[in-house]
Amino acid sequence: MVWSRPLPSDPSSVTVLKNKVGQYHVSFVVEVDIPYLPAEYEAVGVDLGIKTFATTSAGEFIESPHYDRLDRKIRRFQRQLARQVKGSKRWQRTKHCVAKLHLTIANIRNDFLHKLSTRLVTENQLISLEDLNVKGMVKNRTLARAISLQGWGIFRSMCAAKCAMLAREFQVISRWESTSQVCSSCGYRWGKLDLSVREIVCLNCGATHDRDENAAMTILRSGVEQSQDPKNGHRVSVRPGCQVVCDDVSTRPVVIQLSLGV
Ligand SMILES: [Zn+2]
Repeated sequence: MVWSRPLPSDPSSVTVLKNKVGQYHVSFVVEVDIPYLPAEYEAVGVDLGIKTFATTSAGEFIESPHYDRLDRKIRRFQRQLARQVKGSKRWQRTKHCVAKLHLTIANIRNDFLHKLSTRLVTENQLISLEDLNVKGMVKNRTLARAISLQGWGIFRSMCAAKCAMLAREFQVISRWESTSQVCSSCGYRWGKLDLSVREIVCLNCGATHDRDENAAMTILRSGVEQSQDPKNGHRVSVRPGCQVVCDDVSTRPVVIQLSLGV
């Protein structure tokens, strides 16, 4: 067994996993104290997309890794697999290739999503995301494959888990809120836009918006409103230097999972 790092404390349980490619992973459950680190910025809204994976309300455009070359390979092998005799040696070899490519894509995606979510969560006190109807969107057959490759769902759960771990606030905006149909500076509603429209000039205030950035700003505003709404149980201020959020975090043990590749 190859250790990538020492365990921070004695593990309470160990799980051994074997994947389709034949690699073994050992997963430990350990208890660690996570010190409370105040965030640099107050809040961020994130709009998720296909071409640019994420657009933040701060005007950052984050590209997703290119999966298409690997995805094309998978499709080629899968066509080959369909022609081969089920259960034969060659069929098994092709199957192994497909599994390996799927794993490579998953590794690239997880690496990208982990790095991005960690950065967004550590930098910001509040993260606001849109509740996407992924199941419904996948029904659009021309985009289904591209949407499935993105991993929006994984990204959302990563953000939620890391927010809980680092005492950040996590808000999800209702999918019925029309984030791309309203002006983020004046609230004017211009209605539904075709997907090809990338830039909008507001008829009311004259501001020029990038489509995705405008959506991210709207998501941020709704997230902050939602968090300050007393109906939602607790009122958390997002002003900088504010220490309302969980002040006992530094002493609360958090269970995290460490995975060690073998
Ligand atoms: Zn406007």
